[in-house]
Amino acid sequence: MNKSWIIKSRWSLEYNKGVEDILDFAGRSKNISGKILCPCKLCINIYFYSVQVVKEHIITNGFFTDILFGINMGRMIKLLLEIQKMKALLVCLILNHKLLKLSNHI
Ligand SMILES: [Zn+2]
Repeated sequence: MNKSWIIKSRWSLEYNKGVEDILDFAGRSKNISGKILCPCKLCINIYFYSVQVVKEHIITNGFFTDILFGINMGRMIKLLLEIQKMKALLVCLILNHKLLKLSNHI
């Protein structure tokens, strides 16, 4: 798929054609609500919207280009959130362990 349109002006015909092509492709993988992941710079492939709303987002906000180059930021953010949860859990476990050791000394 030609991705050269991504660096063109958002108001150019080439950019709009690229958006149409991407939406035509993405429109084949709608969720059960008939919505697709929005790859705009604000939604970064995390939120689902209708194809029309996604088109407006891409035109207004611009395309989150890392998605086109193989980085799924939605998955990356979910992974980072999981890592944060694991870190918080680990801190709780360490604190509980230290409290338990302290209580054994009292
Ligand atoms: Zn969006």
